[in-house]
Amino acid sequence: MSYTYGQPVYILSEGSRRTRGRDAQWMFIRAGKAVSEAVRTTLGPKGMDKMLVDPSGTVVITNDGVTILEEMDIEHPAAQMIVEVASTQEEETGDGTTTAVIIAGELLAKAEDLLDDDIHPTVIANGYRFAAAEARSVLEALAMQVDADDEDTLRKIAMTAMTGKGAEASKDLLAGLVVSAVQAVADEDGIDLDDVVIETAVGGSVADSRLVEGVVVDKERAHESMPTRVEDASVLLLETPIEVRGLEADAELSITTPAQLEEFIAREEGELRGVVDSIVESGANVVFCQQGIDDLARHFLARKGVLALRRVKKSDMHALARATGAKSVGDLSDIESAHLGHAGLVEERRIGDDTLLFVEECENPKSVSILLRGGTDHVVTEVERALTDALGVVRVTMQEGTVVPGGSAPEIELARAIRDFADGVSGREQLAVEAFADALDVVPRTLAENAGLDPIDTLIELRARHDRGETSAGLDAYTGEVGDMEDLHVVEPLRVKLQAIESATEAVELLLRIDDVVAARLNNSGGDDFGEMDF
Ligand code: ADP
Ligand code: MG
Repeated sequence: MSYTYGQPVYILSEGSRRTRGRDAQWMFIRAGKAVSEAVRTTLGPKGMDKMLVDPSGTVVITNDGVTILEEMDIEHPAAQMIVEVASTQEEETGDGTTTAVIIAGELLAKAEDLLDDDIHPTVIANGYRFAAAEARSVLEALAMQVDADDEDTLRKIAMTAMTGKGAEASKDLLAGLVVSAVQAVADEDGIDLDDVVIETAVGGSVADSRLVEGVVVDKERAHESMPTRVEDASVLLLETPIEVRGLEADAELSITTPAQLEEFIAREEGELRGVVDSIVESGANVVFCQQGIDDLARHFLARKGVLALRRVKKSDMHALARATGAKSVGDLSDIESAHLGHAGLVEERRIGDDTLLFVEECENPKSVSILLRGGTDHVVTEVERALTDALGVVRVTMQEGTVVPGGSAPEIELARAIRDFADGVSGREQLAVEAFADALDVVPRTLAENAGLDPIDTLIELRARHDRGETSAGLDAYTGEVGDMEDLHVVEPLRVKLQAIESATEAVELLLRIDDVVAARLNNSGGDDFGEMDF
């Protein structure tokens, strides 16, 4: 065997692209900055909304960082890592997604300057990591304790999270609903937000929203002569269909005479009647069936005055069990009173254009619903996102019991502390620590810009106030003045700030350590740059 020298050796499949060294870093930085640019105008109470239109023409109008990024369907691998920062933030805390992304974008931008000055990426990554660790301890020192039953503070936290998200006019009302809902579902196992179901109904206004101590099921009753209202309801949850047990697939039925047919029908009828009788005997007067209910059985149930619903969603079944205390029954022969749950009132009501079934007045329900109203579909969905954020922050606060002032007060305080900390860091890492401190200024700057203020003036004033020891001085985006965020009731969970800084730093560190990208050929893309990244 002989080798031909001077010939390149191809180890990658044809069409693969490879980007290395400085080019790879440049590509990451550009992609990360583009993502953060895409959301920065939405930050804060005066942030703008975005309208996103998908290929099928569906329109989404939102101010919510993670929603924007998910709707944008971003393809670039580096950009996706920044999107992941937002997703993690959303999962862990429910809020602060825009903040996390713009911090990540700014850390990348500052890293670019350092790379231009020939500072090695590993040095930058290390410096950022030192700074993030310092940030954690400064934030923790800044945090205030909150009791899980301090409703007043919990409401303020909910309101801060909803600011600027289409819920403005009814913020007070919604914050109250959110706090009551989270408190209702909290138990010794913690707080599972799946137990707070948001049911939406277009029509009326957001101010008509309310909390249902139970479940709202978006279904109509299975037969029109069933009752629309049952007081003191005994609730049966059925996982199996109410129907005649099917014949075996290969069974053959030979009916040769009319009498045989009649007998066969009568037998089926008898079987269904038996099931309905066992339901009535158990004492159940409301039945939720996860599957179908045979026509005849519906008729029998109606005659017995039982209110039944069929094809109820699994998630609703779960909520119903948590709210009423019923145990799901998986076998028709297993229907008995011990499995039933209880609700003070079950009633079908017309709300706006929808017919909904309310299961309410449950005793000590472990699942509750917020019935969210609003004039249009877009209003309702955006307010729903605001509610989700508020539920998230109230939950985290009840779990962790620590809050910090908002309005960029913590970011200013952090930048200050980290600049001091940098003085004690030796070597070139010091420059990266300083860059980290500067990067945090992106939050106050952006809040000011979005409120139509001069960011430099605002920063100078904020810094001066913090130098004087006013650790909760932040930007009041409504008046444009610097004020005490605690007095203004702008507070956020500590966790939201910690998580934003930590996941932004981790993602940036990871990106900085990469200097070689090998990308297989994309089948669906003729574009050059992993899909366009210009916004
Ligand atoms: P994120 O997705 O990061 O939560 P938001 O658009 O919700 O983005 O904006 C959050 C920022 O707005 C936080 O820094 C928060 O402290 C600030 N903020 C919220 N309410 C006010 C307010 N009334 N005045 C000033 N800043 C506020
Ligand atoms: Mg928010």
